[in-house]
Amino acid sequence: IGNFLIVALVMILRSHDTVSVIPDRVPDIRFVDEMGWLMIWGTILLFIDAIAIIVLYERIGDAFGRHLGWRFLVCGAVVLTFDQAGFYLALHYVSGAPFSVFLGGWAAKMIATLLYTSFFVAYLRFFDERARWLTHRSFKDVFHVLTYRERYYDLLETSDKDHLTGVHHRRSYDLNGPKILQESLAAKRPITMLVIDIDHFKLVNDRLGHQAGDEVLKAIAGLLNENLRAEDHLYRFGGEEFVFLCDRLSPTGAMAMAERIRKLIEKFSIIYLPEKVTVSVGVASAPEDGDNLEALFQTADQRLYRAKHMGRNRVCGPTVQD
Ligand code: GH3
Ligand code: MG
Ligand code: MG
Repeated sequence: IGNFLIVALVMILRSHDTVSVIPDRVPDIRFVDEMGWLMIWGTILLFIDAIAIIVLYERIGDAFGRHLGWRFLVCGAVVLTFDQAGFYLALHYVSGAPFSVFLGGWAAKMIATLLYTSFFVAYLRFFDERARWLTHRSFKDVFHVLTYRERYYDLLETSDKDHLTGVHHRRSYDLNGPKILQESLAAKRPITMLVIDIDHFKLVNDRLGHQAGDEVLKAIAGLLNENLRAEDHLYRFGGEEFVFLCDRLSPTGAMAMAERIRKLIEKFSIIYLPEKVTVSVGVASAPEDGDNLEALFQTADQRLYRAKHMGRNRVCGPTVQD
């Protein structure tokens, strides 16, 4: 607002520059122009400072642990030194200010940093009820109070699981799937996708009720989860449809794994579930069947539909006959 007011004032003065507002005093437009450039530069610096201080505060978090006062102090000192250097350079260029001007401004900014750090520490210690960080709180909780991004990441970690089955959900697939695939392709490792869909699940619901259907779904997801290798990623893709993304698994290996899962679920359901439940599986590998997640899924999904058409309870993949 200050900047805009000054600009407006200068525009008025400029259009009346032969008129003296105060008798015998003519406005020094050249001086005002110099100040105008400095103000623009100062405002740009301020934007940079505002972002830099947040980035720096987060970056140095690990090094400072619970010493938030020091963390705050270092951020202030570094960013304001940068600010002073940037502003002094412009000032020197515009008006030839001597180096003592830099030192004077820098000292003032460091004193301000010390002052604000003491306010900050006092606030945390005496006023912020939630931040009893010196006595009761774990380190992590302190960061929660102060940086929302850290809190956000924590939330992401706990929120990327599907609440019914406990496996990763669709958003997690969308978010991480492409990364997993690209990393694997870049390292020239085989990677395979399995799309698993429960057969006639609607009938299971119809016969046993929706709640029992949920239990069946949970049991099958649990079974899939227990059969993961370290390199496998399991997602609940839709209602009763799961996707396995298996790093370091060749098409032949994946066919064997899919077949093993299919038999396992059939056997498990006969023994433990109220009725026999089977699955159909579509298998696709990268880069043979596509070099991006959408293409890979599309191929696997087509093969899944083929498995369904061929009578369900079977696996269809690149090497399958029928
Ligand atoms: P298909 O062999 O062709 O896959 O037959 P389907 O009945 O499994 O196929 P469809 O996709 O038409 O139906 C899926 C059903 O799964 C529909 C819905 O009632 C059920 N379902 C989806 N999500 C859930 C869930 O979270 N809990 C329960 N109990 N049922 C679900
Ligand atoms: Mg189904
Ligand atoms: Mg389905």
